[in-house]
Amino acid sequence: MADYRVTDCHVHIAPLEQFNPAAMALMQKRPQWALVEELCRSPRAFLRHMDAAGIERAVLINYVAPDVIGFNNSVNEWIAKYVKEDPRRLIPCGSLHPRHTTNIMADVEQVLKLGLKLIKIHPPHQLLYPNDYQRGVKELEIIYRAAEANGVPVMFHTGTSIFPGARNKFGDPIFVDDVAVDFPNLKILLAHGGRPLWMDTAFFLIRRHKNVYLDISGIPPKTLLQYFPRIEEIAHKTVFGTDWPGPGVPDIKRNLDDFRDLSLREAAQAQILEKTALEIWPE
Ligand SMILES: [Zn+2]
Repeated sequence: MADYRVTDCHVHIAPLEQFNPAAMALMQKRPQWALVEELCRSPRAFLRHMDAAGIERAVLINYVAPDVIGFNNSVNEWIAKYVKEDPRRLIPCGSLHPRHTTNIMADVEQVLKLGLKLIKIHPPHQLLYPNDYQRGVKELEIIYRAAEANGVPVMFHTGTSIFPGARNKFGDPIFVDDVAVDFPNLKILLAHGGRPLWMDTAFFLIRRHKNVYLDISGIPPKTLLQYFPRIEEIAHKTVFGTDWPGPGVPDIKRNLDDFRDLSLREAAQAQILEKTALEIWPE
């Protein structure tokens, strides 16, 4: 089996103390909770964990969602500091929230200055539609414009969420269609491919727009080909990710092993595990 330099484009390494009690209660049920705590505290421990799992680089997902989860703007500084341990292997993802900012220009500026390599928008947890800039939420347009101008991709959570207070109508990827049209040079990742309600919509958007990509995290690899039977057609725009320690993702290594076991052509495996991520986040 070929040895790929795998990027996991979706791991939640976050400041755990910011979780509100309801979200924390759900998180603490995770099978590897003690490990989650350790790895969120220690980048060195996380790098060792990546070595053991066969992961070369990881994108560390953070987002601002005070209403549903508890995360505030300080996640951006937190993750920028965390990745200093190894900036080549640890890729920082931060976030902005249109309703939780006093000065959007200053906040965008800070995200760029911190060197964050991805901006996450989580509609079901941020309680907004990706295209709300069409309904007066100017801040969203400012975020997308800045990301587009500076070559920073934007990842949207698409699909459902089971966290208390999450609103799933916002998880339909169709609302990303406007963003792809209005910001043609913005690289857009559809996290979880709309799972489990909107896979067809996600597949359509990825084929329709040259700037829309698929992040397969959160989809159990064993069911990936049921959800995306034509994934080889979009392999050049697909990135591997686990969503650990999200629901249904017990272990990074097992997730990767299950993906490698799929009957995909070698070229598609290489593309999804290694190449697409290197195009989005060059070393
Ligand atoms: Zn996630």
